[in-house]
Amino acid sequence: MADLIAALTRKVADFPKPGVQFKDLTPLFADRDALVAVTKALAGTASGADLVAGIDSRGFLVGAAVATRLGTGVLAIRKSGKLPPPVLSESYTREYGDACIEIPADGLDLRGRSVFLIDDVLATGGTLAAAARLMERAGARATGAGVVVELPALGGRAAVAPLPVHSLSQA
Ligand code: AMP
Repeated sequence: MADLIAALTRKVADFPKPGVQFKDLTPLFADRDALVAVTKALAGTASGADLVAGIDSRGFLVGAAVATRLGTGVLAIRKSGKLPPPVLSESYTREYGDACIEIPADGLDLRGRSVFLIDDVLATGGTLAAAARLMERAGARATGAGVVVELPALGGRAAVAPLPVHSLSQA
């Protein structure tokens, strides 16, 4: 699995800023067999969750695929400015700058839900930690997180602890 992911990842130096090597998973997602394998592997780590939340925007692709496989709904955790108010927001710092993610503050009852978080890449962990806080504020509980690529040097796993993170590859 890790070899397949590495082979289908486009690595771009100094993007979006100097010093960052961007992992572009577009070739992986466009490959039928790889997408099925990744979806299956992440779904296998998410059992027990009754909702999957994908993080804007590449987390939407895998999150929706995993939700379909598990037979759950999917929640899109959006970047700020995309959703109409009222929203619940969490600000955070990530590998290449500050950011903010949001979910609707009404019309959606997440109380008591068990949510599995999905993103493409785990870097510093700021994004997933903020997503877990959002779930808590909405009355839900993040049970775990799944990512396709983990960048261990950036310490994201420790930053999101005690939330368990399942990564399919490390780079
Ligand atoms: P972080 O919050 O630092 O763990 O960053 C994770 C979020 O930023 C994910 O939504 C990723 O899509 C994106 N990201 C951070 N670093 C990279 C990277 N080197 N390559 C691709 N995406 C990244």
